[in-house]
Amino acid sequence: MINRRFALLAGLAAAAPGPILAAAKPPQGVILTYLGNAGWRIEDGRTVVIVDPFLSQFHLPRAFYRSASEDDGTDDVLVPDEAQIDAHVPRADFVLVTHAHQDHMLDVPTVAKHTGATVIGSEGAGKIARAEGVPEKQLIIVKGGEDLEFGAFSLRVIPSLHSELAGKHYNNSPFAGPVADDLKPPLRESAYHEGGTFAYLLRIAGHQVLIMGGMNFIEREMEGLRPDIALIGAGASHREVHDYAGRLMRALGDPPAVFPTHWDSYANMTAEAARHGADLFAAEIKAASPRTRVIIPAYFEPMTFGASGSGRAKAPGG
Ligand SMILES: [Zn+2]
Repeated sequence: MINRRFALLAGLAAAAPGPILAAAKPPQGVILTYLGNAGWRIEDGRTVVIVDPFLSQFHLPRAFYRSASEDDGTDDVLVPDEAQIDAHVPRADFVLVTHAHQDHMLDVPTVAKHTGATVIGSEGAGKIARAEGVPEKQLIIVKGGEDLEFGAFSLRVIPSLHSELAGKHYNNSPFAGPVADDLKPPLRESAYHEGGTFAYLLRIAGHQVLIMGGMNFIEREMEGLRPDIALIGAGASHREVHDYAGRLMRALGDPPAVFPTHWDSYANMTAEAARHGADLFAAEIKAASPRTRVIIPAYFEPMTFGASGSGRAKAPGG
């Protein structure tokens, strides 16, 4: 056992350095595209970073669970919708995973296997990716607190907290815990435990993009970050958190642009109800930070932030 471990460590030490992308041409600004749920494509014309892809949600009719009969308690095998994934993520260089629940993780192995992208996420996300056949060299396991340099961008991994679901009893549930060690495909719903939650600060093309995948945060970890674009978890459970918008906007220094994320609850509510929730959330952000521009993103519509500004660039007009 010791020999095996040593061989593994020696192999890791001898491996080539991690991915550093050459700066072939100057960045053209950053383009953000909302992919539904907490999913985003963030690109600068040369590097494509995907966040929490969940294109498979569009396989279901809108408000499916709301209209379906009660959950019968079965532990279903979850199958990613490869056609949707390929259509909306034809290429990717990196996939960031905020946590390993199915609505953040289900599509990640398919993206990695079809595009060759490197997955960055927790040990739990890594366990699911490995079980689904993602090669080890395409996995970067992070613990929270890292600040990683990739050349074309840098990435700070921010320790965070999952949304306060179930009236603050979320952490009483097994889905809050670690991902099991011995996963064997096909993976069922019960495999997708949280495995810890991260936010990310992605510095790319002269911009700083704060990325959240849920509706909670650790205030001291956000304090002093100065993103010019912030993807802020906007689902209803944010109301379980004291002064969510106010504490967050103050900690982040009133970011010029906020995009509500994880607000669409695609299979759980009607489009009108989801939009209403997003509008209420936008009003909360505006009340907390009046100069912030709040943009509720439409599915699959790229939005460009120019390269002119650095750091706290002004939000784009129009
Ligand atoms: Zn979750």
